Amino acid sequence: MSTVEETRLLAEGMAAAKAGDRARARELLTQVITINTRNELAWLWMSGILETSAQRRDCLVRVLIINPSNEVAQRGIVALDAQNASTAPAGLAQDQLAGSTSGLAVTCPFCQSQADGTQLDCTACGENIILSCPSCDKPINLWETTRCPCGEGLRHYIFVPEGIDHEGLGQRYAMAERWEAAARQWDRALKEGSHVSMLHRKLAQAYDKIGRGQEAEYHRQVAHG
Ligand SMILES: [Zn+2]
Ligand SMILES: [Zn+2]
Repeated sequence: MSTVEETRLLAEGMAAAKAGDRARARELLTQVITINTRNELAWLWMSGILETSAQRRDCLVRVLIINPSNEVAQRGIVALDAQNASTAPAGLAQDQLAGSTSGLAVTCPFCQSQADGTQLDCTACGENIILSCPSCDKPINLWETTRCPCGEGLRHYIFVPEGIDHEGLGQRYAMAERWEAAARQWDRALKEGSHVSMLHRKLAQAYDKIGRGQEAEYHRQVAHG
């Protein structure tokens, strides 16, 4: 489908949301996200129409993965977390009833399953969800943000929901002389054989940016193989 279609569906979805027709808005925005998982506005509007605070938070996290400086999403997450903190005792009791042993349940930004936020990799899809910052070595939790407080940003290496550009991220670690971390990323790129399809995806992104839509579409299709 074309970007014209994406824009039209987004406009209709936003109009439905404004008119209070949540079901219709959800249907339209879901279509937008199916066309383009990196549509920042679609995720932002989706966050306003979903039922539970967990769902709303997931949408806002998506917005921040796409654009870490989106202030509406930043404020939204702070507000939701403040709400959750005030109802924490009930939440904890539920976790205990469910026999949960994990200290911190998070939503994997790649496969959307509930992951253990204390583990470096998602236990469901195996993708890295906590990375060390190439500049300052502090952990960057991808379920929360792609930007480190030190200013380092990993946004260009993170493709949602496809996965991480392990080759590119390895290069970033290498530039910082972090050879162990670089080797881990490159090893992964080779094992998964994902580097070729990731290159097609990056080419598609580049061609999109410079308005060469046909070439972008070609590389997107090859990437999805
Ligand atoms: Zn996962
Ligand atoms: Zn840092």
